[in-house]
Amino acid sequence: MHLSEKIEKIVKEVEIFIQYGVQESEQQDALKFLHRYKNDTLALQLMRTFYTSLPETHEESIARITLIQKKDDIFLLGLTTARHSYLYLATEQKALLLGEYGCEIVEPEALAFFGYPDTKVFFEKYPGLMSCEEYESVGVTGARFCPVCASAVGEYHLLGCPVEVCPWCDGQFTRCSCRFEKLGVEILEDEEELEELERILEEKGRVPYSKEQCPSYPSGTDE
Ligand SMILES: [Zn+2]
Ligand SMILES: [Zn+2]
Repeated sequence: MHLSEKIEKIVKEVEIFIQYGVQESEQQDALKFLHRYKNDTLALQLMRTFYTSLPETHEESIARITLIQKKDDIFLLGLTTARHSYLYLATEQKALLLGEYGCEIVEPEALAFFGYPDTKVFFEKYPGLMSCEEYESVGVTGARFCPVCASAVGEYHLLGCPVEVCPWCDGQFTRCSCRFEKLGVEILEDEEELEELERILEEKGRVPYSKEQCPSYPSGTDE
């Protein structure tokens, strides 16, 4: 399934869960909040998990998502409603409730992964969520998508996209001379040569889009 279809499917699911799970007076807010993050797989996974398995039946809308920490592709997030707050772990594949904020944490190993030996040390550093930054949706313009051809992380670029990395020389595929050398021609002239290029490129193994290829992606750790 293409990423945009997958995203659309999650948005529809969350809409349904909101309709059934959130009290009527907060439904509009819940939908508005959902649409703010409607291009963000990570936030959508979090919302789906929250609305499908509310810790108790509070029937509340999400009011805020907070970014506490990020390591590799795993996010430690806070989720706030009008009267409660929770701690979550999330990736683009799934989200996991760690517990109600400030209370007992179900899986303290998760906090160890972020460098906190136990729950106490963690809550000493982050006693409340209001001091943490709001989680920013990266949307379609973020590093999760190629800024030129919009292919998602792990997908191949559209042929001719200047961000594509050459699998032969690791250079920029639209600028290096590999394509001419491999085809044994001086210039690319017709459709047939392009098709042949695509074939040998795939045979060699194309380099799919990754965040690091995005010119605006910060190198090193961003804490
Ligand atoms: Zn691209
Ligand atoms: Zn090359």
